[in-house]
Amino acid sequence: MGMYNYLDVELDCPRCGAWCAAEVEFGFGLLDLRRYAVGDLVDWGVRGLRRPRVRPPGGDHAGEGYAECRCCRKDYFVLVRVEADRIVSVEVDPARPGHLP
Ligand SMILES: [Zn+2]
Repeated sequence: MGMYNYLDVELDCPRCGAWCAAEVEFGFGLLDLRRYAVGDLVDWGVRGLRRPRVRPPGGDHAGEGYAECRCCRKDYFVLVRVEADRIVSVEVDPARPGHLP
């Protein structure tokens, strides 16, 4: 079991300005290093390491993700929104720049 899941997205990178693929790590749902895409249903799990511990009411959730741009290899944070168990959007969090200089 891992600490994260992965989400493959394309975003306007706040670091290099390119529309580019990014790999996002996020820490909700069953934490089993699964690869998700926008539109996929989140597996909340019934056992094992998972956050939240049970499916949230209505299957709605919003959580932080840590993104790495495949164009410039720099990092930034995103907000991942889940509605009715489905990953519906990923937005750059302008308040949280990445760690890499
Ligand atoms: Zn970039």
